[in-house]
Amino acid sequence: MQEKFNQIRQSAIESLASVTSMREIGELRAKYVGKSGEVTSLLRSMKDIPNDQKASFGKMVNDLKDEIMGYFNVKEAELKQKELESQFEKEALDITLPGKKVVAGNLHPLNIVKNEIINAFTGMGFEIFEGPEIETDYYCFQALNIPKDHPARDMQDTFYINDDIVLRSQTSTGQVRVMENKKPPIKILSPGRVYRSDDDASHSPMFHQCEGLVVDKGISLCDLQGLLDEFVKIIFDKQTKTRLRPSYFPFTEPSVEVDVTCSKCHGKGCSLCKGTGWIEILGAGVVNKKVLENCGIDSNVYSGLAFGLGIERVTMIKYGITDIRTLFENNVKFLKQFDRR
Ligand SMILES: [Zn+2]
Repeated sequence: MQEKFNQIRQSAIESLASVTSMREIGELRAKYVGKSGEVTSLLRSMKDIPNDQKASFGKMVNDLKDEIMGYFNVKEAELKQKELESQFEKEALDITLPGKKVVAGNLHPLNIVKNEIINAFTGMGFEIFEGPEIETDYYCFQALNIPKDHPARDMQDTFYINDDIVLRSQTSTGQVRVMENKKPPIKILSPGRVYRSDDDASHSPMFHQCEGLVVDKGISLCDLQGLLDEFVKIIFDKQTKTRLRPSYFPFTEPSVEVDVTCSKCHGKGCSLCKGTGWIEILGAGVVNKKVLENCGIDSNVYSGLAFGLGIERVTMIKYGITDIRTLFENNVKFLKQFDRR
């Protein structure tokens, strides 16, 4: 009988050794310890066992059954572990693969510079005012002391919609609208699009300006220079200096052209500044008394300063752009250079 036990044990162990799936274990389990399995059927020979040995025989059968079940359990645990490992291997993430890049746009250089200009002046207490792009002759010219025979009113320079309506040729038009509705002290910045009949490497028929206006008691050219000195240090760098040159505009008296030290050579002279060390950046001046009076402001009590700068011009100087048209071609390669992320 002992022989039979050993045989079953040995056969179960050998069969288990070659098992590779849970299904096979199930089959073997039925074969050895199932209801009609080999171990269970040993109990059928109980009738041939002498009475006094029946108890120990029963125990031997049960011990064998427990022993074989133990082998099955160990094998089952091994298989489960292997299955888990192969599942992990299949589902493993390869984190060395480059991810898919999300393509996002960035601000246009003109918007970047416009925002910087707005931030610089609002930081100095300016309010933002945006006037209409389609203006009447009055706001665009007459109120700004630009007489009928002034060259700025020539068809060559201005887009006329009809005799009285024009596309504004400058943001100075905003000055009049503000002064008509607001009493001094006034401190406004008026950014926006303007239109002129001009198209070459340094002119575009549509471009952007920022008009600044300060009206209060005792405003002079010194205030203008102080303000612009501060502004160019913010927009370019701390070494940047300004220089005022006499000029003429109908709406300011005296009028000045303002130069800044070249951002590339810092005043030494280079190709960008044509060897002079200076680059013209904007036109400005003390508001013409006639303009103040046109807007109902007493020019004996109040005075003002005004300046108008081209956003394209500042952008070109800041980034060393030589052709204004690159700003409007929407070439993605060009525009991506201004992505700051
Ligand atoms: Zn230079």
